[in-house]
Amino acid sequence: MTHGLTRQPDSREVLICGAGIAGIVLAHLLARAGLRVTVVERASAVRTGGNAVDLRGAAVDVVAAMGALDAICGQQTGNGALHRIDHEGNPIATLPADAIAGDVELPRGDLNTILLGTTQAGVDYLFGDSVEALDETRDGIHVTFDSGGRRTFDFVVGADGLHSRIRSLTFGPETSFVRHLGCYQGHFTMPNDLDLDRTGLLLNLPGRTLGCYTIHNNHELVIGWFFDSEPLTYDRRDITVQQKLVADAFADAGWRVPDLVDAMYRSNDFYFDPIDQVVMEELHCGRVALVGDAAYAPSLLSGVGATLAIVGAAVLADEIISEPADVGLAFARYQKRITEMITLGRELAIRSKDWFILPAGAEDLQISLAEEEQVHALREHVVAAANRVCPQL
Ligand SMILES: Cc1cc2nc3c(=O)[nH]c(=O)nc-3n(C[C@H](O)[C@H](O)[C@H](O)COP(=O)(O)OP(=O)(O)OC[C@H]3O[C@@H](n4cnc5c(N)ncnc54)[C@H](O)[C@@H]3O)c2cc1C
Repeated sequence: MTHGLTRQPDSREVLICGAGIAGIVLAHLLARAGLRVTVVERASAVRTGGNAVDLRGAAVDVVAAMGALDAICGQQTGNGALHRIDHEGNPIATLPADAIAGDVELPRGDLNTILLGTTQAGVDYLFGDSVEALDETRDGIHVTFDSGGRRTFDFVVGADGLHSRIRSLTFGPETSFVRHLGCYQGHFTMPNDLDLDRTGLLLNLPGRTLGCYTIHNNHELVIGWFFDSEPLTYDRRDITVQQKLVADAFADAGWRVPDLVDAMYRSNDFYFDPIDQVVMEELHCGRVALVGDAAYAPSLLSGVGATLAIVGAAVLADEIISEPADVGLAFARYQKRITEMITLGRELAIRSKDWFILPAGAEDLQISLAEEEQVHALREHVVAAANRVCPQL
């Protein structure tokens, strides 16, 4: 069931932790209905970073309703077909643009910046801070910030991504909810030294995939490294150690890999993380709910994380606004409404794994057409499920 989002003013005070895609969309929609919204973001400014995300189906309608679609379309990668290559750079297969790119594809940082630009009266952003403690009483939820300040809100939403602090404070340690999918990812941007023209290349080797594609009108490349590995122990603050893990995984991979490894060491936006999913039975507890990757990250293997984050935020906003007297009921309805969408999203990531990173030991470097078609069909199911639950804005 969908409800209107602008029915009546509502002056509840909400804290959203995380100014990522989900947090900004939720903030926008709640403020539009009159709620007083504070967003606390750990980073000192909205996070940039070049790797691209896709928006599909109803997620495009949500950003359009926020007035962001023209700017988003202006930053599209606009990339065409993607080419699989072998270790000597010879083409071995071509993938259609929509196999990877969705209805709209743009760098994550650009999307965040554009969405933040739609912020209207009623949203107060606190950058460079986070939530240290939560204390719920009958009157509200008392929040202690890292900076020492204290405030009371009607409810709190954790939109703080895969390593969510709100999830840890409310539901318990990350290890209870985060499932490792057996692989790692590293990303950085560099000048378009490969002279690619609005396209991408995928070097698939058993247990390892290297992706390169153009952004920002061919001026830059995003390089993505993906490799199979059991959970690794490393210092999350030591970038050089993480770069070395990538370099070791891609030793002897052939093609232009040594040049790209050199460029990785020179880059200033390198990002490294396990490829994980979040699996939770309950997405809410008392006056706290989770949205986006914090609650149901499907992992980048699915290619629908941003779509689920946006549609999930729109559904959560819809239920909160429709149920002004009982936020617990609103949270329960939100959870029920998105369950099919997020379950299919997780399944899509798991089914996509062998399609995206060939199993270690694979001798045939071709991906079967049947496998590609299955992944494509499942992705369509996820998008259809998202379309069914997304409110009309
Ligand atoms: C490399 C990569 C490639 C991806 N590619 C795709 C793709 O092609 N298609 C797709 O659909 N999805 C993709 N995704 C997934 C997509 O980016 C996420 O699903 C989506 O960004 C989720 O949005 P979010 O707002 O829930 O979380 P995030 O975007 O992670 O935002 C969380 C925000 O919370 C902040 N934060 C974290 N901790 C705290 C704290 N303690 N206090 C305050 N703030 C905090 C962070 O700084 C961040 O701003 C990719 C993800 C990655 C990492």
